Amino acid sequence: MRRKLAAGNWKMNGTGAELAELAALAQSHPAPEGTDILICPPATLLSRAADTTRGGPVQVGGQDCHAAASGAHTGDLSAAMLLDAGASAVILGHSERRADHGETDAIVLAKAEAAIAAGLLAVVCLGETLEEREAGKTLSVVGTQLAGSVPEGASGATLVVAYEPVWAIGTGKVPTLEQIGEVHDFLRAELTNRFGAETAEGIRLLYGGSVKPGNAAEIFAVSNVDGALVGGASLTAADFSPIISAL
Ligand code: 13P
Repeated sequence: MRRKLAAGNWKMNGTGAELAELAALAQSHPAPEGTDILICPPATLLSRAADTTRGGPVQVGGQDCHAAASGAHTGDLSAAMLLDAGASAVILGHSERRADHGETDAIVLAKAEAAIAAGLLAVVCLGETLEEREAGKTLSVVGTQLAGSVPEGASGATLVVAYEPVWAIGTGKVPTLEQIGEVHDFLRAELTNRFGAETAEGIRLLYGGSVKPGNAAEIFAVSNVDGALVGGASLTAADFSPIISAL
């Protein structure tokens, strides 16, 4: 049975004052049964976040890493640096990075390989734009992204896939439950084709895009939804805690 995962992506939000939210979260969910909790703060907070959450139920992760182990890459961070700062996971290929930084499937793949090799859980994101959905291309787009961004040899221990329709991120718009189920069932089938049923069954599939306390339970009831990747509603314990409880 796959463990559930409630993952928070703080994006470019949060300074030291917001570490209190992590402490509050840990206090509200001292021993969440069958559920993992992950918060990905900005890199500047990672090591303090890890200190704040050490020994408790909340894991911390990065929001990106470079594919190289070290070198002349000003402003970038390697997977080993994230691990050293206390991360156990890293989000890769978020649509904001694909759009803002021109990250292709090949780049995301190289980053995922580096992350997994360093011992991090790779949370690989994919999802269609509104234009692609309206053109009926959703499954072909996410299928291509999955094939191109997920490394060979991945397993539930090293990989999580997050389906985040670009048009649902930060917009308050959410696909219908049928639309979410269609994509998640498709992703599971694609993973099964590629890795075999046993491995595919262990890989968690998260939904992301305007998940809130009010819609989390119905989304989590959809087949092949193993949790959520949450942006805005992960910034405060007051919002994220009920989402964790809904899993
Ligand atoms: P929102 O939950 O703010 O829509 O963001 C989703 C997201 O992009 C998480 O990675």
